Amino acid sequence: MTLTKDQQLPGDLPLDPRVDASVARDSFTVVNPATEEGIAEVVDTQSDDWLDALTRAVDAQDEYSPFTPRQRADILRAIYEEIMARQEDFARTMTMEMGKPLVEARGETANTADYFRWFGEEAVRIPGRYAQSPAGAGDIVVTRTPVGPVLAITPWNFPLAMGARKIAPAIAAGCPVLVKPAAETPLSMLLLGQVIWDVLERFSAPRDLLHILPTTQAGELSETLMADPRLRKITFTGSTAVGKILMRQSAENLQRASMELGGNAPFVVAEDADLELALSCAMQAKMRNGGEVCVAANRFLVHEAIAGEFTERLTEKMNKVVMGNGLEEGTTLGPMITAAQRDRIHALVTETVEAGATVHRGGEVPEQTGYFYPPTVLSGIPAGARILREEIFGPVATVSTFSTLDEAIEKANDTEFGLAAYAFSENAHTCQRFAKELAAGMVGINRGMITDIAAPFGGIKQSGFGREGGIEGIEEYLDIRYIGS
Ligand code: ADP
Repeated sequence: MTLTKDQQLPGDLPLDPRVDASVARDSFTVVNPATEEGIAEVVDTQSDDWLDALTRAVDAQDEYSPFTPRQRADILRAIYEEIMARQEDFARTMTMEMGKPLVEARGETANTADYFRWFGEEAVRIPGRYAQSPAGAGDIVVTRTPVGPVLAITPWNFPLAMGARKIAPAIAAGCPVLVKPAAETPLSMLLLGQVIWDVLERFSAPRDLLHILPTTQAGELSETLMADPRLRKITFTGSTAVGKILMRQSAENLQRASMELGGNAPFVVAEDADLELALSCAMQAKMRNGGEVCVAANRFLVHEAIAGEFTERLTEKMNKVVMGNGLEEGTTLGPMITAAQRDRIHALVTETVEAGATVHRGGEVPEQTGYFYPPTVLSGIPAGARILREEIFGPVATVSTFSTLDEAIEKANDTEFGLAAYAFSENAHTCQRFAKELAAGMVGINRGMITDIAAPFGGIKQSGFGREGGIEGIEEYLDIRYIGS
């Protein structure tokens, strides 16, 4: 295979990021999901590497502690600038390993950079408190200290941004981080590592503040590191099933935990909604990142009087989606991450259709190279169908109906998850009800995309706990200390 310049990975990708690489290791192959071709061989780190990284991280925390808040802020700001300077390298790498369209990969790169800028701005505002004891017993001073070495485990759907939300606040707070990227998509994170290590060196800050540990043995890695009491925090984005394993493992050493887990977002469209707005937001909430998003609209709930028109117009918009290799400008839907994910989505669709749902478009696996699945619209979903209970994680929209607001809210909340919810209405009272009564950590009112560096991202119920971003995000990396004097 001859790669054109646009299809080459950056020359400085650290495919073996270990500090001590004296012992040779096996490697694993990263596959481009649009072409099914191997694009890189990455070192498969093992337990000695993980423990070596932790030992180095512990020392790095001490070395880093004299850095003032302003110096930390300057480091994070420099990382922001370096990421932006290499936006095209990041975007191409991400598209090649993950499949998303280049335009979205550029967006994720900018968003990643922004997390570093934001948490640099927060590094100088870590809060504290002073009070007098009401009984006159003395002074109460409340400060924050870094929680300590952090293990960050990230998924493949946003190979950079999910890590950035963890690394940036950790460095701002004074914590070293060990990152385990998803084995499907380690390359963007490795490039980020290179950028961060270069900046740390420039500021004479310890390189060991950040370790990246690509491996095919995720379970062994989390068991090994979490069994070590020097590790003080686990932060995870991924499935609820794995989140629960990590919570059990964290019990042994009482490590602090942040869990950003699965979602099953309802997207409610009231009878008086601005339909054009709701439709364009529906496309955003469903199709961004090919639907491979934990806050993706999973269940469209549309008032019965407008459901027919909504479904028809949504199908028209889906007809305009351009499916293809994300490296080609103009592509708006890339492949799914793996054949297994594509087949899982297809099985979910097939099962729903066999149970009586109507297919408005899509629903078939195309005969072409790459793990593609077409935009699919289904209506008439049987009550209790698995597709209404589980995260679809693909470009499949299901439209169900309701007749009253009470019914809409009840159906929307009929899920074990509680990450995001979206609702559309032009009536202030209806919007207020949605804002108060939809059971989710994040509620979008007349908006299809609510993720923001300055807002606390996170869920309730089986979607986990802990928040990323906003002024809340840094608290996850800080312990509270009370000094009585
Ligand atoms: P997905 O279905 O999106 O791959 P997972 O929860 O399986 O979701 O994966 C998210 C991240 O968790 C990936 O980095 C994966 O390697 C990692 N992972 C999977 N199983 C475990 C485990 N037992 N312990 C720690 N990490 C795990």
